[in-house]
Amino acid sequence: MDYKEHITIVKDYPQPGIRFKDITTLMQDGEAYHQAIQDMAVYAKQQNVDVIVGPEARGFVVGCPIAVSLGIGFVPVRKSGKLPREVVEADYGLEYGKDRLAIHKDAIKPGQRVLITDDLLATGGTIEATIHLIEELGGVVVGLAFMIELGYLDGRDRLGDYDIFTLTKYE
Ligand code: AMP
Repeated sequence: MDYKEHITIVKDYPQPGIRFKDITTLMQDGEAYHQAIQDMAVYAKQQNVDVIVGPEARGFVVGCPIAVSLGIGFVPVRKSGKLPREVVEADYGLEYGKDRLAIHKDAIKPGQRVLITDDLLATGGTIEATIHLIEELGGVVVGLAFMIELGYLDGRDRLGDYDIFTLTKYE
């Protein structure tokens, strides 16, 4: 499937100079969304994944349906202050802005094989912080799966030691 046909590019959102990749048009097309999740689930299965972790909010949109389709668990990573129980936290920088992420301390068991999912790989800052959280809890990150990769931001170089799967790439 040509996923780019289903992704809408919005110029100068949320800031001048950003070309925002809007996946809501892909999600609202049942066939395209289903195919995207199936392609990513095949990758997750190949990597022999025990659990999926995704950062809010678009990491849920990608990771939850993959987890359900494989019958494995999903663990949310959220902005600081949103999770109700004991957490570990990590700071991160974005293409536009800065923030702090958190995961429940008991969410990952030592040695579990983890796949991280998100809609888009930009600078890789969000995923770097997510990897840090998982590894702090003893999880083994066996793959990173994104719908979209922005090749011009070099996120792949930043995350070079990890296996990366993407559905489509913008240069
Ligand atoms: P990064 O940490 O720089 O890899 O940023 C990735 C996160 O920011 C992803 O979860 C995206 O949802 C969002 N993001 C960053 N840049 C864009 C963009 N150009 N279009 C859409 N989403 C973006």
